[in-house]
Amino acid sequence: MEINQFKTGDGRDIYSFAVQSFPTLATNIYLIDDGSRLIMVDSGSGLPDSNQHLVEGFEAVSEAAGKTITMGDVSALLLTHGHIDHFGGLKFFREHNEKAPIAIHQLDVRVISNYEERVVVASRRLDAFAEQAGVSEQKRNELMAMYTYSKNIYESTEVQTVLEDEQVIYDMTVHHTPGHCPGQVCFQVDDLMLTADHVLGRITPHQNPESITLNTGLGTYLNSLKKMSRVPGIRLGLPGHEKVIEDMYGRIEEIRTFHDGRLQKVLDICKTPKTMLEVSMELFGEVKHYHRLLAIEEAGAHVEYLYLRGELIASNLDEIADHPHPIIKYVCE
Ligand SMILES: [Zn+2]
Ligand SMILES: [Zn+2]
Repeated sequence: MEINQFKTGDGRDIYSFAVQSFPTLATNIYLIDDGSRLIMVDSGSGLPDSNQHLVEGFEAVSEAAGKTITMGDVSALLLTHGHIDHFGGLKFFREHNEKAPIAIHQLDVRVISNYEERVVVASRRLDAFAEQAGVSEQKRNELMAMYTYSKNIYESTEVQTVLEDEQVIYDMTVHHTPGHCPGQVCFQVDDLMLTADHVLGRITPHQNPESITLNTGLGTYLNSLKKMSRVPGIRLGLPGHEKVIEDMYGRIEEIRTFHDGRLQKVLDICKTPKTMLEVSMELFGEVKHYHRLLAIEEAGAHVEYLYLRGELIASNLDEIADHPHPIIKYVCE
């Protein structure tokens, strides 16, 4: 198991390793050792490979640190946000550590502690969104099956610590950066920033329409990017996926530019009226499996952003007025 090791400006050790949370997705786990406390950040997906990699990761960190470090030694487990690739391993963690408090931002608490309810309610909203976007009933059923699949791999777990913006916990500063997820936070450890899924080094973090989940949406996300760019003195970004970010500020600029370009593309596509599904098809083409859900959400987030700002308008008003479940077409005037 390969691990990375960092030292913060104030001399704290941070170790990281990746667990295979899903067959095509690896998630970074961080361990912060300040000599008296061991803080763990994120827990993987809870699938067998992910759990096995957690065990191997602790063994590799022990070797690098020259002392035995196990999951039982963790003083607290902080979660960066309520996505299953980051919190799904909680049950496995609890089997190895009964006492460490589990912490997550207020807006994602219910995902962790009331998961079954949240999946049912959120999938209803997703279905309504997909219907308006022009997705056929059969394809919607396929999307819902993918969405609710994760219900089977996680059981609600109690949260002991509720995080808030600008809170200092274990000498780390919590920065609430909603957008990719309502309760997304970045943890600042001295001059290093655990950017989680808010800022990633290579891919741009996935965007959701806020009509499905409140406190997400592209506008919310871009505001949070700006917020992060104003935190001074960050030497390195340590993301939730993939490699370390050498220049967090530069990377934030790149992500902003990327979304500007994508918004312009959506405006070009909507020179003639288009459904969200049609926008998604033009942006991403024919995609498969889970990527179909991601594509329609990503396209929807951009259409919604432009619509909320008056740059796109709904064009088929008669249909919308007459039909209880209309498919909406958007046009750029
Ligand atoms: Zn995420
Ligand atoms: Zn993630």
